[in-house]
Amino acid sequence: MTTVGILGGGQLARMMALSGAPLGLRFLVLDSTADACAAQFAPLLQADYRDEAGLAEFARRVDVATFDFENVPAESARWLAERVPVFPNPRALAVAQDRLAEKTLFQELGIPVPEFAAIDSREGLDAALARIGTPCILKTRRLGYDGKGQFRLRSPADADAAWAALGAQAGTVGLILEGFVAFQRELSVVAVRGRDGELRTWPLTENWHEDGILSASLAPASAGAELESQALATARRVAEALDYVGVFALELFLKDGVLMANEMAPRVHNSGHWTIEGAETSQFQNHLRAVLGLPLGSTRAIGHSVMLNWIGAMPEAAPVLAEAGGHWHDYGKSPREGRKVGHATLRADSPAELAAALARVGKALGRGAQVAPPVARLQGG
Ligand code: ATP
Ligand code: MG
Ligand code: MG
Repeated sequence: MTTVGILGGGQLARMMALSGAPLGLRFLVLDSTADACAAQFAPLLQADYRDEAGLAEFARRVDVATFDFENVPAESARWLAERVPVFPNPRALAVAQDRLAEKTLFQELGIPVPEFAAIDSREGLDAALARIGTPCILKTRRLGYDGKGQFRLRSPADADAAWAALGAQAGTVGLILEGFVAFQRELSVVAVRGRDGELRTWPLTENWHEDGILSASLAPASAGAELESQALATARRVAEALDYVGVFALELFLKDGVLMANEMAPRVHNSGHWTIEGAETSQFQNHLRAVLGLPLGSTRAIGHSVMLNWIGAMPEAAPVLAEAGGHWHDYGKSPREGRKVGHATLRADSPAELAAALARVGKALGRGAQVAPPVARLQGG
């Protein structure tokens, strides 16, 4: 009996546990909160990520460890890796936790990135603004997610407001200034690399955000063979440089035929949730196969899928369940503003059928604005 330990007990751990059940796997989730939603399906070890006694017990009880939460302290990951195999490795985790380190790596690998500068003082911000220009975005280097810890500057006159909002964090989590990319499309590539170095990518996914939070994903993005091979080559370079094992995602901006890298997620990713029903093998199952050294499954898409995120509270399930290709995922979390509480995936054999199903669901749930971008894309927009 193999037990997979997961650091973090959110919806990613929950879906990982659900996808690992057919493989006969056991799980143990480490999380500091008693109501972690993965604990509804897997035993919970309640402890802080920095608690050595908790980590020691975790290491004793699992055969291999991986992550649901990308901001597990890198020292904790390293401590654990001395006692039990940890995938992805702690160095890969540490690089992906820091926007400056990941962008520097991308640049070293010849991967296009937005202009960026590390910021550690108000004078540094002014100097970087003079070089990069506006519009641009000031971001915390670490711990940001769902667009939190970011300030957009439209003109140099916004520097005071940006510094007032984030300046205090320059000496703690650090800051980075990025040029704003006027991209045509926002895409992501989800990839998996096995212990033997085999790498596979799922088809490119197109993503739309609302207030900095992922709102909808369409896959395959049907971006063309040229961009698919660019994405595969980019994912391979990053994975090999980090000796990465498991699933990761690269968030990409498409600008004038070029894919620029925004950030990397060292884990299964929200833009890959469609793979549960829309691909031969889901990102969750392939992540488990990778960390266990099992053969990877095919990443081929089955038809066309759109994933809709439910933020704050779950809508009514019936309109999605009434669709032939409708799939419902309720994470069992209590409602809270801005919180990801579930998602739905609609799958169909053709873009036209998928657009029609999406439009019906959008109308029934009063979410016309959420479904409009993928509907327009599916209709050839
Ligand atoms: P996530 O929840 O994906 O981890 P995050 O908080 O790490 O989000 P980013 O991915 O950096 O934040 O930014 C959120 C969104 O803001 C991006 O998906 C993109 O739409 C927009 N964005 C971020 N950086 C830039 C940029 N340099 N140029 C243009 N748009 C950007
Ligand atoms: Mg992020
Ligand atoms: Mg992001």
